Amino acid sequence: MRIVLLGPPGSGKGTQAIRLAKQLGIPQLSTGDMLRAAVPAGTLIGAKAKEIMERGELVPDQLVVAIVAERILEADAKYGFILDGFPRTIAQAAALDDILRAAGLRLDSVLELDVDEAALLGRILNRAKEATANGHARADDTEAALRVRLEEYRGQTKPLSDYYRERGILKRVDGLQPIDKVASSLLEAIASQARRCARTAASSSP
Ligand code: AMP
Repeated sequence: MRIVLLGPPGSGKGTQAIRLAKQLGIPQLSTGDMLRAAVPAGTLIGAKAKEIMERGELVPDQLVVAIVAERILEADAKYGFILDGFPRTIAQAAALDDILRAAGLRLDSVLELDVDEAALLGRILNRAKEATANGHARADDTEAALRVRLEEYRGQTKPLSDYYRERGILKRVDGLQPIDKVASSLLEAIASQARRCARTAASSSP
């Protein structure tokens, strides 16, 4: 099952993507994690992305698209994946369509965590404070970068809701419920498709 999980910074998207991936037995593919890993690895991508990420801005489309294009065709993603943090722009969504179409695949579902904007800044500033206290704050967990990340989300990523709604594959879940309830609502939202995909995978496995 091929899923995109959408949600603003502070919506709990990363946590939910990991849980859902475990439950469905498919990999969670986070472009943020991939880019963060590229920085200490000293790759060209990492060098280009480092300062952009620290400011909370979006890394150029072609860079992220290149990473995802390779990753989703790896063996562990054969029966599906959850994309976490990608696409973040309409251009990325169009590129994803092209990559999947070229491989004879398509997206099954786009899940959006619906979170009241007013709740977000407080939530992410809290998360930054906790992470700093625990000694694992991200370089972009500063107040300035978090504000930029929210702006980027509103301007660049939010339009994806309409993009996928028009294609009839968008499902929204209330992201302000308790974590376990969000997780069960996400599972419920894709239950019938998950069963269909499991049958397809079973019938096509050797
Ligand atoms: P995340 O871990 O998803 O919050 O992403 C952290 C940062 O990585 C973002 O603020 C961007 O700078 C960069 N990033 C991650 N995914 C993308 C993407 N799909 N397009 C552009 N930049 C991205």
